[in-house]
Amino acid sequence: MTDKNDNQCGHSLCSCTVAEDASYCSPNCQAASDSGTTSIACECGHTGCAAEIAQTV
Ligand SMILES: [Zn+2]
Ligand SMILES: [Zn+2]
Repeated sequence: MTDKNDNQCGHSLCSCTVAEDASYCSPNCQAASDSGTTSIACECGHTGCAAEIAQTV
């Protein structure tokens, strides 16, 4: 069983799954992590991500 799809986005607040050769699900996550910005929520905008929950303002 080599079908291990357990890669998660490098953004600590992001709950998205990324490809095996990718570290982040989106440039937003990479930029946020690279700049050390601790956002309230992920800004990748992916459906089902934690950012969707934060949309309720
Ligand atoms: Zn995300
Ligand atoms: Zn992400």
